[in-house]
Amino acid sequence: MAGVYISWPFCAQKCTYCNFASGVFPKAWEGRYVDALLREIRGFEWPWAPETLYIGGGTPSLVEHVVLDTILDAMPATPWTEATLEAAPAGGLHVSPRFNRVSLGVQSFVEPELRKTGRKHTAEIVAANVAALRAQGIENFNLDLIAGLPGQTMESWRVSLDWVARLEPPHVSVYMLEVDEDSRLGLEILQEGSRFGARDIPDEASIADMYEYAAERLGQLGISRYEISNFARPGFESKHNLKYWRQEPYAGFGADAHSFVDGWRWQNVETAAAYVEADDPHGERTAANASEERFFVGLRLTEGVEPAAEEWEMHAAVIERHRVNGLLERAGNRLRLTPRGILLSNEIFQEFLAP
Ligand code: SF4
Repeated sequence: MAGVYISWPFCAQKCTYCNFASGVFPKAWEGRYVDALLREIRGFEWPWAPETLYIGGGTPSLVEHVVLDTILDAMPATPWTEATLEAAPAGGLHVSPRFNRVSLGVQSFVEPELRKTGRKHTAEIVAANVAALRAQGIENFNLDLIAGLPGQTMESWRVSLDWVARLEPPHVSVYMLEVDEDSRLGLEILQEGSRFGARDIPDEASIADMYEYAAERLGQLGISRYEISNFARPGFESKHNLKYWRQEPYAGFGADAHSFVDGWRWQNVETAAAYVEADDPHGERTAANASEERFFVGLRLTEGVEPAAEEWEMHAAVIERHRVNGLLERAGNRLRLTPRGILLSNEIFQEFLAP
């Protein structure tokens, strides 16, 4: 099953923790961006008919429905098996009927935490959005949470999880704060500054505890982990996002979008400014290494991976070491991370890369 990703990098504010190529850009850029998107989509030679769609960014819920229609009409698939719109919680959320799934960037239900990041919503606004989605017939929705925000404590994290329990979403994503120089908060932390609450982030052990608490609490709610950061009730796993971990093809359009088509990978130019100016937005194509990627991305899944006979052999020493350490386990023909292995996953993934 193939999919399409559309990047919409325009936002109402730039959140302090955000390391995407999104931001607040002049309104006048939007028309040019749509023209560039349509050019890229119409110039693409579709090797398959896509079945899933994900419009992310950025805040595509701010786009007028008529503009979304123009973008969707430029593509071959309709109706989509799954069409997801990313949305920022805000009053009056009204989703185009072309979408059957919504991902709400909640991040936290605790106001002091939200204000430090630049987000303006409240828990009540999220609850109203969830009710509005249900009233519009959208039962398939996701709530995003971040563990590790400035000022967050286990107590406040429980408050956010209590809200999740109350709102009964079918899907929840839990990300751990990424500290890198691509976000203002990350840069401030790396430079040991104090802006954006940089000195108030929980330590690594506390963030790991928060993640484990969330996994346990969501499990009790019947929302089970199917990927390191993703939890769903049975049948509500994101069909589109599963492609990334199962190495199924997808075409990405827009600034910073990634594509995996016919065994080739490429990434578009990163910024909205470069994208609207580019004659050809595609970066260099590289041939995918199916075996490396099977482990590197596939091990993120709770179901794990099914290595070929020669891959069991090639990685025998690494697999055995982590099996003995209690970080990897074998279940029949499959290999997967243990709950403890999940917390050290990045280190483990590296070991399956060719030297
Ligand atoms: S976190 Fe979401 S809403 Fe905030 S700047 Fe990034 S993409 Fe935009």
